[in-house]
Amino acid sequence: MSEIRLARRAAKLSTNFPAPHFPSELGPDVIPFDSGFAAPQLLPDLTEFAHAALNTHRAETLQYSPTHGQPELRGWLAGLMNEDGCALTPDHLLIVNGAKHGLELICKLLLDEGDAIVVTAPTYFTAIPIFRSFGVEFIEIGQDDDGIDIAALEVVLAQRVAQGQALPKLIYNVADFHNPTGATMPIERRKALIDLAERLGIFVVEDTPYRRVRFEGETIASLKALDLTGNVFHLGTFSKLVAPGLRIGWVAADTALIARLIQLKADGGSSPLVQRIIYEFGRSPAFAAHIERVQSVYRERRDRIVAAVRRELPDAVLAVPEGGYYVWLTLPAQVDGDALAADAAARGVNLIPGSKFFASGGDTTTPRNHIRLSYSYATPEQIDEGVRRLAISYRTIAG
Ligand code: PMP
Repeated sequence: MSEIRLARRAAKLSTNFPAPHFPSELGPDVIPFDSGFAAPQLLPDLTEFAHAALNTHRAETLQYSPTHGQPELRGWLAGLMNEDGCALTPDHLLIVNGAKHGLELICKLLLDEGDAIVVTAPTYFTAIPIFRSFGVEFIEIGQDDDGIDIAALEVVLAQRVAQGQALPKLIYNVADFHNPTGATMPIERRKALIDLAERLGIFVVEDTPYRRVRFEGETIASLKALDLTGNVFHLGTFSKLVAPGLRIGWVAADTALIARLIQLKADGGSSPLVQRIIYEFGRSPAFAAHIERVQSVYRERRDRIVAAVRRELPDAVLAVPEGGYYVWLTLPAQVDGDALAADAAARGVNLIPGSKFFASGGDTTTPRNHIRLSYSYATPEQIDEGVRRLAISYRTIAG
């Protein structure tokens, strides 16, 4: 087919079907450090709630849902976010088919081709093609253990102003247990980001899939809780806390922006059946018990992988995440994470090289000496065995 007939955003896309890649299809000998899947034993038994949804609530769950989502679910979510420091009504919320869907809708709302956006370097790698499909210019800002480097961001923005370039439309960030670095922004850094963005009229998009997957330490106010002017879009999801297959998340934002997002949401409404199941589960005592189990199982795996890396890979620098699904390893500068990932794959250890998390996309400026290890799907025994094999790869690559 002639590429000329396709939209610019589609013309360069690969024509190959992506290989299906489900860790459950791999044998137990393959270690899934690349996987953001939930631990299978943490997938909750929702049968009782599904039964109620399909019986008591049938007239609701098998009809179309309001495009903005079911009122009870939105009310419950607004309550949860208010307990977490926000001041929201249900009208501040839009139910979407997962956080990625919410992000795509926000892009539709804010971005024209050629607009600039700010992402961290590294950033969530699935967000990169979503942004790219809107024809954006990426501004990458580095991070330290406390998250995005605000001073560096200020310098870059001042340079753009001095050069007569437009300011970016949005700053995309994961403030809690960042994917891939695991870093969590302290309160001062959060306030500084909110202040800067507000002052310059740049929207902030806060993505929070891991916010409640916290193992220790105090919860820190979300960017949305610090936002007094409606400048922050908050993305929430049940994927990491409950189950990714539910495909339900939410956007919290200023009501006038939500009203416009509703009009851009062309899916006929997110599944009312799944919304009802989540709502019934969420208001049952099983929900709090489930969250505790999630925290405890992933805490144990985090501890296991940190111990294994310290034992087997003493050259790797790693900041211990207080929550989330990932550890980010910084290797000596000469070690190529892509080569390491390829060697590890040959030994049955799947992982994602750090270069994939940079919007610069593998050009000469992309740092290559990082890898991301996910500990959510690998069992404790697989974690030990995987890091042992990874250390063999490391010694092979590092020489
Ligand atoms: N954002 C980030 C930063 C993530 O790591 C993930 C999970 N991989 C998601 C969003 C999940 O998105 P969804 O709700 O669409 O499953």
